[in-house]
Amino acid sequence: MRTIDHLIAGHSGGGASRTADVFDPNTGQVQARVSLGTQADLDRAIAAAQTAQPGWAATNPQRRARVMFKFKELVEANMDALAHLLSSEHGKVIADAKGDIQRGLEVIEFACGIPHVLKGEYTQGAGPGIDVYSMRQPLGIGAGITPFNFPAMIPLWMSGIAIATGNAFLLKPSERDPSVPVRLAELMLEAGLPEGVLQVVQGDKEMVDAILDHPAISAVSFVGSSDIAHYVYRRGVEAGKRVQAMGGAKNHGIVMPDADLDQVVADLSGAAFGSAGERCMALPVVVPVGDKTADALRAKLIPAIEALRVGVSTDNDAHYGPVVNAAHKQRVENWIKTGVDEGAELVVDGRGFQLQGHEEGFFIGPSLFDRVTPDMQAYKEEIFGPVLQIVRAPDFETALRLPSEHQYGNGVAIFTRNGHAAREFASRVNVGMVGINVPIPVPVAYHSFGGWKRSAFGDINQHGMEGVRFWTKTKTVTQRWPDGSADLPRGSEDGGPSRIQDAFVIPTMG
Ligand code: NAD
Repeated sequence: MRTIDHLIAGHSGGGASRTADVFDPNTGQVQARVSLGTQADLDRAIAAAQTAQPGWAATNPQRRARVMFKFKELVEANMDALAHLLSSEHGKVIADAKGDIQRGLEVIEFACGIPHVLKGEYTQGAGPGIDVYSMRQPLGIGAGITPFNFPAMIPLWMSGIAIATGNAFLLKPSERDPSVPVRLAELMLEAGLPEGVLQVVQGDKEMVDAILDHPAISAVSFVGSSDIAHYVYRRGVEAGKRVQAMGGAKNHGIVMPDADLDQVVADLSGAAFGSAGERCMALPVVVPVGDKTADALRAKLIPAIEALRVGVSTDNDAHYGPVVNAAHKQRVENWIKTGVDEGAELVVDGRGFQLQGHEEGFFIGPSLFDRVTPDMQAYKEEIFGPVLQIVRAPDFETALRLPSEHQYGNGVAIFTRNGHAAREFASRVNVGMVGINVPIPVPVAYHSFGGWKRSAFGDINQHGMEGVRFWTKTKTVTQRWPDGSADLPRGSEDGGPSRIQDAFVIPTMG
């Protein structure tokens, strides 16, 4: 049986007394084991990071960017193999797996421009003969703790910016699909990144706690479910670290009476069911405004949902594949039962779905609920599966209140042809990322990603300039150079070298 291990100081291995099973969600069988690391494994990685980081921080930004350029080339050359590896542990279809890698790679493209974004601010003449300038310096050693659902994109969001800004970075990937993060770290080494700058430590809560408490780690970036995000935030901040911790989501799509319903149905097929609903920016709640809109939307949604093809993750015609493991499948089916028990109308029931020849796989058919109400637990909580809920709203104001008052505030969308309604909605809704006729409004890499309320703890977003701010600290210099400084003569009497020239050697660039 294959063991997926740490990547510490450029080498795979280290082993562990504890391991976790890694499944193939298509077959339901264990395909590998992942080491669950300890404090001692983390200490080895920290020692390697401490050795490597000062030299990396002193490497000029242009050279650091060149590693990013080379890494991008290598990931592109290995795209097919990476996508298959990702899909085999996560269960998302190959096209989605490529999207996962591509969206991460876009942050690497942003990181290729790091010399430009690291330029500081400068004020000439802030006072008489006084100039003020600022510079951004790396924090030292940072760590990233990532979820199972984007095993390429989220590690690249964090590591790309952390490394390009001169930090050493320790990645603790999800133990459910840990292979791609290791492979990406190997490609970074191949791209010329010095050993110890990017390392992977495998593990579960024990490793996470060791990271949160380790005094040598200055910052922790976390993405996962909200209760764990809140815990990571509290414990990391308590230990004096900078922490950003993104949590769960329950994103709403508001459908105004003037929306193009065919477009909405096409968008919802992807946004609610793509990747089996295991996306923090999925759209699992649709809010039609007015019963007429709701009835028309429901009539179009039913055949579209029944036409969705659920298949193995390598099936190019499949709309989506299995969920990640048996426990998650059970959890999603339990939520469907809760919705029924609470009185919602189950219009399409995806429970009990079996794929012929893959009866042990973790497949769930698509489900549609109508007449879901805000007091239901199945509405309040994140299901994270292929389940779409219709919550009917009588008017715009009620529709606006639903996502605004929900405990999560990651993403939201409005579908309308009315610019005024869209503008009003975007400015008033209490949610971090808004789509206008865009169902999954994940910002491009040079903007930043982050939700509100229980979808994010801490106040700095992922990637873009927010990412640069998270992974650097600002130093501000106020300088004055009085004329004719007495103790620094301009040159010796006989025209020989001055003391200043003796004292400083000007380094070359490039
Ligand atoms: P998870 O919270 O179970 O795991 C995330 C990470 O935390 C993993 O690395 C895991 O090893 C670690 N972890 C798990 N239990 C822990 C514990 N008790 N103590 C310390 N660490 C622990 O999340 P998941 O199931 O892997 O991912 C899905 C969740 O992530 C969903 O809630 C989804 O909405 C969320 N998510 C959010 C975003 C966002 O940007 N807001 C993006 C992707 C996923």
